[in-house]
Amino acid sequence: MEELTVELVNVQSVNGTEGEVRIAEKIESILRGIPYFTSNPDQVWTKTVDNDALERKSVFALLKSERPSNKTILLHAHSDTVTIDDFGALKELATQPYKLMEKLKDVKLLPDVKADLESGDWLFGRGAVDMKSGMAAHLVVLKYLSENRDVFSGNILFMANPIEETTHGGIIDALPELERLQSEKELEFECAINTDFVGPLYGGDQTKYIYLGSVGKLLPAFYIRGKETHVGQAYEGLDPNLIASELTSRIDLNAELADEAEGEVTQPPVTLKQKDLKPTYNVQTPISSFVYFNYYVHQITPDRILDQLRGIAEASFDHVVEKLNREFEKHCARAGMKYERLPWESRVTTYSELYNKVYSLHGEEVNVRLNEILDQHAKDIDPREVGRLMVEELLLMDDDQAPVIVLFFATPYVPRNFVKGQTEKEQILLEKLDSILQETGSETGDTFAVHKFFPSLTDSSYLCLDDTDEEIEVLKNNYPGMDTLYPVPIEKIRKLNIPALNFGAWGKDAHKMTERVYKPYTFGTLPSLIKKYCLNMLD
Ligand SMILES: [Zn+2]
Repeated sequence: MEELTVELVNVQSVNGTEGEVRIAEKIESILRGIPYFTSNPDQVWTKTVDNDALERKSVFALLKSERPSNKTILLHAHSDTVTIDDFGALKELATQPYKLMEKLKDVKLLPDVKADLESGDWLFGRGAVDMKSGMAAHLVVLKYLSENRDVFSGNILFMANPIEETTHGGIIDALPELERLQSEKELEFECAINTDFVGPLYGGDQTKYIYLGSVGKLLPAFYIRGKETHVGQAYEGLDPNLIASELTSRIDLNAELADEAEGEVTQPPVTLKQKDLKPTYNVQTPISSFVYFNYYVHQITPDRILDQLRGIAEASFDHVVEKLNREFEKHCARAGMKYERLPWESRVTTYSELYNKVYSLHGEEVNVRLNEILDQHAKDIDPREVGRLMVEELLLMDDDQAPVIVLFFATPYVPRNFVKGQTEKEQILLEKLDSILQETGSETGDTFAVHKFFPSLTDSSYLCLDDTDEEIEVLKNNYPGMDTLYPVPIEKIRKLNIPALNFGAWGKDAHKMTERVYKPYTFGTLPSLIKKYCLNMLD
């Protein structure tokens, strides 16, 4: 399996590059080399991602047992990686594990990295743990089962998707294909197994985590319109940067805002962007600024996030107004001027409130203008900026031109989910998982722990969905252009409703130049775990 992993790592497949096409071709050729698929060539096929300039592809392979049944397990993995820029001078070797490891011996490394490098138990390289080794584990299992088609009953569907590391566009594009297999071939998906990377949650942690689902993510954004002024009359303006900074200081890494469910806590919100919208230098203060936050969710709903962040926005706005008045009063005293309270009043609105208000003023004209923005920009600029332009357009049409904070959601929307064991099917799934982990743990000495939510984003989010229709309605109403900018096929996901587990490749430092996979577990225990689970579920 090490050889197969290295073969996959060697095909550089950085997200957004031609390499994503080459890795799909590589995977397809590996599949076609498995004797079962050589004899059944039409059971391997690809699906080119719709409207993708690079023509990236998902790869599928359907293995049928000798004992026909509709029961199917989906083994899936993503085929792209993050950039190799972090390798710096060693960039050329990022996807050549053995040469890279040789060179790393001469690099000053942190003690634990050095120890791992010297131990011989680790394979370094971009994609080693995230997640070419996970892909290899699936391929090894698939090959074994294809040679032993009498030991299970049902089907294994293998799927490799591009475009995971940015927008999850590969799996989203592949959902109609899964739906087609569900209806045309009557495949009944028992569960999906992803092998995206897992690793220590704290220093020295050796636990092998199995996840029953995935954290969700929203991107709450704030558009802040202040009031510009000349720097010579500084107190006549309202600096939107001051309000943005106040928002950031209250929200960024605020531990109280970390969401919690089932005893598991998310990472707190963190800024992914804070900027003012002044294009060039001059001596006018900025008119507006823009800030947005990564917001992980286990159970909090879009409307509760809006309530929570609206409260913080109001408090931030009030705080800035009070501060300005305090400073202005001090300044007047020093400069011998008469102090009069500044005119600013705190004003916070959500996108849907602003839209409804402006719609009541202008009617259909509003939709015409918003659609123009989508038509003009949706294809070529960052979708978060398109949302921001739509907010600006509404503000232009508003009859109130006073400073304001507009709170809205921007791209992406990543659904949350986990297997709750509420149905009989889910109970069986959990019981079998439990017994296999116990058995494997006593054989190998590994400590396993079953957690609900994979802590960072995975493609598993798009196979089932815990948000209700009402919650999604609130999200859509506050997410300018969602259907165009990030069309998540909610209906399809609901219909598929595949319990999405993650048995990860185990390693360290994913997305860092010291990315590495732990060979004994990932190349030995992991494929045997997946195999046992498939055999048990398709008994
Ligand atoms: Zn990954």
